[in-house]
Amino acid sequence: MKTLSALETLHQQIISCRQCPRLVAWRERVGQEKRAAYRHWIYWARPVPGFGDPQARILLFGLAPGAHGSNRTGRPFTGDASGEFLYAALYRAGLSNQPKATHQGDGLALQGVYITAAVRCAPPANKPAPEEIKRCAEWTRLELALLSQVRVYLALGQIAHQALLDYLGLRRSAFPFAHGSEYPLGQQVLLSSYHVSRQNTQTGKLTTAMFDAILKRAKALAGL
Ligand code: SF4
Repeated sequence: MKTLSALETLHQQIISCRQCPRLVAWRERVGQEKRAAYRHWIYWARPVPGFGDPQARILLFGLAPGAHGSNRTGRPFTGDASGEFLYAALYRAGLSNQPKATHQGDGLALQGVYITAAVRCAPPANKPAPEEIKRCAEWTRLELALLSQVRVYLALGQIAHQALLDYLGLRRSAFPFAHGSEYPLGQQVLLSSYHVSRQNTQTGKLTTAMFDAILKRAKALAGL
């Protein structure tokens, strides 16, 4: 319980962060303008802290909140196509208690997995700037300091993979990204996958079978 309350305290600090002027302006603008289908929602429009099991052995590392997904709901990958694909897969893998994620308080609980991202505010065109990733890495450091059981870093996409390498102080050229790439890093392993974006899943670049195989491998590496 000590870990949980420390995480909650950290999350409150993250939610108040306004260090990246471009992202603060964008996340709030999206929250005001909204998408027509969500016009009755009050968008979260703040940084999205991590979510999951404080005893996680798998850290799932995404890129950034989706403008109308987690920037609307306030929970990673919740409320958009990426999340539909991801959470259904986590459920099939036995890493969660339900296949759907629609809003905070929907009953979803992760088992053995914690989800966070390279940046915690929605960026224009889903493209955070290098300095924004660098700034947000401090929040990554603080979150990971409270997740002592993590054995597998599962990076979703090349930018998340590179952000993790930067965070770990490792040369990008020594650990190139590929779908299914796997690098032992002392007590941990860096495993990477194509991102679960709609662009990848609708074009077949990332299929459910491919992602199920990644989660199976992550579980094996994590001893789950
Ligand atoms: S991206 Fe990270 S560092 Fe920048 S404002 Fe959001 S929470 Fe703060």
